[in-house]
Amino acid sequence: MNGNRAAELLRERFGRGPELIVARAPGRVNLIGEHTDYNEGYVLPFAIDRYTEVAVRPRTDRVVRVYSAAVDETLSMELPLRNPKPQGRWSDYLVGILQGFSELRPFPHGFDAAIWGNVPLGAGLSSSASLEVAFAVALVQLYGLELDGLELVRLCQRAEAGFVGMPCGIMDQYTAYFGEAGHALFLDTRALEHRAVPLDLEGMALVVVDSSVRRALAGSGYALRRRECEEAARWLSRRFPGRGIRTLRDVDGAMLEMVRGEMPGTLWRRARHVVEENARVLATVDALEKGDSDEVGRLLTVSHASLRDLFEVSIPEIDFLVDWGLEHGAAGARLVGGGFGGVTLHLVAAELREKYVAEIKKAYWERFRIEAKAVEVRPGSGAKYERDLGHR
Ligand code: ADP
Ligand code: MG
Repeated sequence: MNGNRAAELLRERFGRGPELIVARAPGRVNLIGEHTDYNEGYVLPFAIDRYTEVAVRPRTDRVVRVYSAAVDETLSMELPLRNPKPQGRWSDYLVGILQGFSELRPFPHGFDAAIWGNVPLGAGLSSSASLEVAFAVALVQLYGLELDGLELVRLCQRAEAGFVGMPCGIMDQYTAYFGEAGHALFLDTRALEHRAVPLDLEGMALVVVDSSVRRALAGSGYALRRRECEEAARWLSRRFPGRGIRTLRDVDGAMLEMVRGEMPGTLWRRARHVVEENARVLATVDALEKGDSDEVGRLLTVSHASLRDLFEVSIPEIDFLVDWGLEHGAAGARLVGGGFGGVTLHLVAAELREKYVAEIKKAYWERFRIEAKAVEVRPGSGAKYERDLGHR
């Protein structure tokens, strides 16, 4: 690990001092398994080769200072936190984590910290989870806390869903912590267990193309889909008593066929997406194990059609990017993330990627007069830390 940038920033901002700790955690992309996590289903994310680094150094008093290069701001406060409230700012993520830790044990002293990263903020690659996990790993080391990986992941997820107020599942934080280089994580969000699956599609590249569209509907639309899924599960549990249906995870395709036309149409479509998307995750794991890029691509594209037609979370700009990709040589493409804007994932031949990126941006600009941003992502490793004794 090469945590020099955050360490250098720390020395630059707050001077030299005793031993420091540097922690790093990556962003993520979910290959497939969209809107399945809050239905206790399967997802298949991978950590990417972009990450956030946090360097921390203890102080003797109770002051906390945190500088972040991405926003070029320093947060200052004093421990213990007294009934903190979210401010709608970047510091909320950190305060949420500090709050979570302080419920475990009071802080004996403060610290100085500096943050550096190359996960683009707000671009659907989960800079927020990478920040949370890197910060939490740094604090665990700084204070010598005994917390296992899953507890740390849950603490970060609670900071975002509870304190920051962004109703996210656990996938992002889980992947930022447990990610493995060269692998995707086949994660069962009910059991909270994963298996690493090699993500090595020879000659292929994974490119994220950001539509740059953020609809105001994203938050409310996401919340509405969650409610619809819960309602669909309740409807099916009444219709099939004794089948132990708690969430859409417990539903299968045969049940849905039996109630086609009987179940309210919207709920039926939502349920069908989730049930089939879970099956697509299993099929993708299979295809990855066989190194079958064509099949992985096909599954991505079918997932998109389902998000568009059954789950109804796509928008014209996103459909344009996916359709353009499929017409110009992509093996597969889909909307990733909650929907109503956001980003698309494209599986393309590695040798074509530069031309592909240049042309899709041009076509998108010509059609919508919006600038798309593109990043190639590779499966990187999960959270790490090191003690930096070298440069005082
Ligand atoms: P995403 O997680 O997809 O990047 P979010 O909106 O969930 O998008 O999270 C982005 C927010 O997380 C930023 O607006 C900022 O508040 C915070 N954030 C992420 N990384 C950093 C960083 N390095 N420094 C400061 N704030 C950050
Ligand atoms: Mg986020």
